[in-house]
Amino acid sequence: MTSHTIHTQFNGRLVFVGFGSIGRGVLPLILRHIGGLTPQRITIVTADEAGLGCAEAFGVRHIVQPIKPDNYRSVLEPLLGLGDFLLNLSVDVSSIELVKFARERGALYLDTCIEPWAGGYVDTAVDPAARSNYAMRHAALEMRKPDGDTSPRPTAVLTHGANPGLVSHFLKQALLNIARDTGVEVSEPSTREEWAALSHKLGVKVVHVAERDTQVPSIPKKVGEFVNTWSVDGFISEGSQPAELGWGTHEKSLPADGRTHAYGSGAAIYLMQPGAATRVRTWAPKAGHIHGFLITHSEAISIADYYTVRDGDTVVYRPTCHYSYHPSDSAVMSIHEFAGRNWRDQPEKRILLNEILPGGMDELGVLVAGHSRNAYWYGSQLTIDEARALAPYNNATSLQVTVAVLSGMVWAIENPQRGIVEPDEMDYKRNLEICAPYLGAVVGEYTDWNPLCDRARLFPEDIDLTDPWQFKNVRV
Ligand code: NAD
Repeated sequence: MTSHTIHTQFNGRLVFVGFGSIGRGVLPLILRHIGGLTPQRITIVTADEAGLGCAEAFGVRHIVQPIKPDNYRSVLEPLLGLGDFLLNLSVDVSSIELVKFARERGALYLDTCIEPWAGGYVDTAVDPAARSNYAMRHAALEMRKPDGDTSPRPTAVLTHGANPGLVSHFLKQALLNIARDTGVEVSEPSTREEWAALSHKLGVKVVHVAERDTQVPSIPKKVGEFVNTWSVDGFISEGSQPAELGWGTHEKSLPADGRTHAYGSGAAIYLMQPGAATRVRTWAPKAGHIHGFLITHSEAISIADYYTVRDGDTVVYRPTCHYSYHPSDSAVMSIHEFAGRNWRDQPEKRILLNEILPGGMDELGVLVAGHSRNAYWYGSQLTIDEARALAPYNNATSLQVTVAVLSGMVWAIENPQRGIVEPDEMDYKRNLEICAPYLGAVVGEYTDWNPLCDRARLFPEDIDLTDPWQFKNVRV
């Protein structure tokens, strides 16, 4: 007898591609909460032996076989067919190729970010625009285009971790809470257009995905070592991409280094510098005012796109949206050292799991601002101690991700023929209900803070006093 809620039943096979910090963290949650999925029907395909002990502890088959453009079919075909599930938690494997492959096989699919093949993020032979998440998301969504076959497609959930992923569900709850607290009468939106209209009606100008990680390692970072609370390779990759943000209609001027895209939704811009070199001001309840890195993320683009209001072809409303990430202090030192090495990896890499001191927290939520009560943060405050008590193989950062992988899988199993979907298009209530028991305190808090608070203290600054929420004021 288990005391854990079984959220759904699944009778197919499950293939993990990649079994790093997120794969190992989600396996116990899957076995707890998805009924019928026995360890014998799960196979892990990964590039190294680091997760072997975890796989063996749960009785799951573990194959070391790096997936490459020339072998993914031969490796995965025997493992995946109609009604099975492909869970892509790797780095260096093309999400788009695996989405196509899962669709061909009639299998469900979920990933936590849209990845290119190895080297794609830093291929200097191509224009920075081609290395942007805007380009990768556009290519992924292009696969939705009808090709003559109008039959329902197996569900492929794109970018469903904590962020991107869970934060899109936080945002919907936050908008409803703001409506309630500001006396704006709304019935709950049921379409994209209605959600966008609600955001517009509330006067939301910006959405920051505001995160502060205060977890501390018991063994300090060494010189020449990159230390992080989740994938080092993943953080280095996305930190090396151009900084990107959903670009709102209230913005008065494009930054001097800002560039637009000539195709697609036009919802986002990119800056001609890496996200790991770009800092932005934001606020979270425990952290207060912080400088975060503007790391490119799919949610910055998908949220800006989803909440766009159009009149015919004219965009009349869109919020600015971006990530503002203050990682653990060790990761900040690691990023600083990485940048100083001219963006070349340190020789050693460490993902923290057991060697984290008690007391740290990952505070992750959305700061929704510009409305009549200024700004509202809604999200999860999860400590390392809570995470350890809730699930094995997790720290506070990974658990916010892995529980969202679980909820996205449950939603896909319950909605198996929805084709390619982004988090904003999923049922936010179902996802939040599944995630809530693993998120620590889920908090909504209003603040008077804005990016003009305490400015021009040391030196004069070029700031726009007429609108605090201009990106010009937010950027450090
Ligand atoms: P990790 O670095 O701990 O592990 C990566 C895994 O990929 C390893 O098991 C490695 O062996 C495997 N791998 C590498 N090359 C491979 C190949 N060619 N074929 C098969 N497997 C290969 O990473 P992680 O922390 O577990 O993160 C996994 C993914 O999830 C990354 O892409 C990361 O960016 C993403 N992520 C998303 C979120 C989110 O909130 N959306 C959060 C954390 C991580």
